[in-house]
Order: sequence, then structure tokens, then C-alpha cells
Amino acid sequence: MNKKGERMTHTTRLNGKLTLVAGGAGFIGSHLCAALLAKGDHVVCLDNLQTARPSNLRELESHPNFEFVEADITGPLPASVADRAHRFGRVYNLACAASPPQYQADPEHTMLTCVVGTSHLLRLAEQAGARFLLTSTSEVYGDPEMHPQQEGYRGFVNCTGPRACYDEGKRAAEALTFDYGRMGRAEVRVARIFNTYGPHMNPDDGRVVSNLVCQALSGDPITIYGDGSQTRSFCYVSDMVAGLMALMESGGDGLQPVNLGNPNEMTVNELLGHVLALTGSTAAVEHRPLPIDDPRRRRPDIDRAKALLDWEPRVPLAEGLAATCAWFAEELGGAGGQPMV
Ligand code: UDP
Repeated sequence: MNKKGERMTHTTRLNGKLTLVAGGAGFIGSHLCAALLAKGDHVVCLDNLQTARPSNLRELESHPNFEFVEADITGPLPASVADRAHRFGRVYNLACAASPPQYQADPEHTMLTCVVGTSHLLRLAEQAGARFLLTSTSEVYGDPEMHPQQEGYRGFVNCTGPRACYDEGKRAAEALTFDYGRMGRAEVRVARIFNTYGPHMNPDDGRVVSNLVCQALSGDPITIYGDGSQTRSFCYVSDMVAGLMALMESGGDGLQPVNLGNPNEMTVNELLGHVLALTGSTAAVEHRPLPIDDPRRRRPDIDRAKALLDWEPRVPLAEGLAATCAWFAEELGGAGGQPMV
């Protein structure tokens, strides 16, 4: 609110400043860039293209207020960003591989991206006087003993296991971010993102939604890890982006993390049922061992987000999954994908 008690819009508040989206070519990042551009922001998208696909930016490239910079946040920020530090008003950090097989492929880089990369972006925000938003993760709760997971729960993380590079990296990134906030070095916001799905997921990233949908569409055996009774709660990407933007623009001191996700919990087997019904696939199911430290249950408690942001997910699974299947069907079309029923 301004002095007259009027609600200020995102655009007026930014007053010609730039918005940096690190990880902006990724799955969620590319949708965030599009939504920010639609609101009138001038977006600088920074990405190392390690797991992101340049095609995610196809529709944004020609936008006059969009810039792409290829760089890795574990190194010094490139001159095209650092030299304009004072111009940034908002810094979103979505940069990190987020799918277990991908973040485990180079665990040292994952850890450095979380910690060193976040440090570089926080320093930029401090220099710029910009507000900084870290995308943390439900993985900070590990294999949770508390269900559903509230932000106050401190988690049950195995710091020596194969998921630790991501889980502990994000926990350290949170610690660093809150230190900047507490010390007045930058205004900060921290989102803990739960499982999210939608168009622009990487077909090869090994996640359950992308794997099951791609396998169903192509007729390949459907891989279920363990007996499929483990649960997740899936949030459609447009809901996630709305939550991230609302959190960035929210009031308060920002010194508390906020869960963002859809509390609609289901087993992996139930998810498979939805995918099979949507695609009409009769592909065989192939059971594989449950990955080490795979959480048994996961569901966000989103009371804080509801109260603070007046936000909650709107897109039902049937709708989101249909849009996701249609998008993958088109992506795989050239590779012999089956048409949707
Ligand atoms: N999963 C599965 N088949 C797959 C990929 C994943 O059964 O082809 C399981 C995985 O073991 C986990 C759940 O689906 O229990 C969600 O996995 P994902 O990698 O999507 O996300 P995360 O484990 O990070 O929640």
C-alpha cells in the first residue's frame, strides 16, 4: 500500500527496474518469465542450460522486454548482469537441477549451485537493493515424520545419502538467505516448492509425471518404483508461478519460509491410474527398486500461504494432467508418439 492507502501494482512498484530470473529457462522458470513479462516486467533470464531446454524460451525470445544470458551462478555473475546490478528490483533464484537423477548426476555442482550460486545472487540483491526470492524445496523435510508438512517442522534428512547434495544444499541456501534478511542486507522471501508438473517439463528428467506420461504415450513399459504406494501431492505449474509471484510481492519481514504446493495427495499408483485413463494406454507396468531415501509420504500444509498470500491452487489434477499430456504428445509427436484418445 502507498501513503494514500492505495494498492500499488507490481509494475508501478518496480518503477522501470529489471527482474532477474536465475534458472529462467527451466520448467518452472520459463513459465515464471512469461508471467512476469505479461505483467509488464523487463526480465533478464539467466541460465546455464544444464537441465533447461532452450525451446522453453521459444515464445519469449522475440519479446522486447526479454533478455537471455547464458551463465552458471556458481561462477562470478557475467558482466551483462553485474555491470547493471543497480538496475535490478527483483531477483528470483530458481537455478538448480531439481529432479533426483539429474541433481545426483553431478552432486558437487548441485551443492555449489545451491550454496555458492545463492550467495552470488544474494550479493547482487544486496548491491542492487533488490528483493530476493529463493526457491527452496519440500526436500528440506527429507522423509518426513510429520504429515502433512508444516513450515515449523525441521525435517528428517539423511545428510550422508544420495539426496543430500540437494536437500542439504537447499537447507544451507535457506540459512544463508535468512541471514541476509535478518542482517538487513537484502529483503528476502523463501518458497518451499512441492512436486510441480505441467508443460515444459523435460521428457528426460526422470520425474514421475514426465516418465509416466511419456511412457504411456509412447507405449514403453511404465516404471513404478517400489510398490507405488508412496505418496506425492502434485501442483500445476500455473498455480506454482502465481504463488511465487504473490510471495515475492507479499508484505511482512519475509523471515519465514512458505510452503507452495497442492495438498491433493495421492499414491504413485493413483497417479498412474489417471495417466492411463487420460492417454488410453495399455502399456505394461515394470516395477523397479525404490530409490534410496525416497520419501514415503509428502503433502504440503499450505495454511501459511493461504493466510499470507491469499493464494491456493486452482487447477484440478484432471485439467492439469490433460494439458500436460497434450503438450507431451506434441513434443513426442515427431518421435512416434501415440495420439491422445
Ligand atoms: N517414481 C516412479 N517412477 C518413475 C519416477 C519416479 O515410481 O518413473 C516415484 C519416485 O520413486 C517417487 C515419486 O515417484 O516416489 C516421485 O518421484 P519424482 O522423481 O517425480 O519426485 P520426488 O521424489 O523428488 O518427489
